[in-house]
Amino acid sequence: MKVQADKIPSGGRRFEVEEAAEHYELSHQDFLFNDPIRIAVNVEVVSATLIVSGTLSTKIQLRCSRCLKDFSEDWANTDYHFDCALPDPHDTIDLTDDIREDIILGLPVKPLCREGCKGLCQACGKDWNTGTCKCEQSKTDLRWYRLDSLNKE
Ligand SMILES: [Zn+2]
Ligand SMILES: [Zn+2]
Repeated sequence: MKVQADKIPSGGRRFEVEEAAEHYELSHQDFLFNDPIRIAVNVEVVSATLIVSGTLSTKIQLRCSRCLKDFSEDWANTDYHFDCALPDPHDTIDLTDDIREDIILGLPVKPLCREGCKGLCQACGKDWNTGTCKCEQSKTDLRWYRLDSLNKE
């Protein structure tokens, strides 16, 4: 998103725009951006400073860090803020890099498809959200079996 400073009236201007996520080059293997980036901001010019504040939002497709399932989640920063000096009142300011950075910083480090996702069994790959597997069970059985055979000796 670009803002032409001399098009901003005193008292500011409201922008509500949607821009294609590709424009922000955000997609990467664990985060897919199929939806547009929604930008709803107030832009003001106050004593040679451009001030932008408002909400950024979109929908992200993520991969759960525990069970590796893909899921989508609404993402929003309702507290987006940007300002920069305007040496020339006719400058055009490109907000793309700042918006991109804001979204990247807001991404979860360990995405979870749900709170308390149980993850996958390391041994057999069973998704523990859908039930238990035999692995834990058989480990216990084996221990009892060994104890039994010790007693017999
Ligand atoms: Zn999960
Ligand atoms: Zn298992």
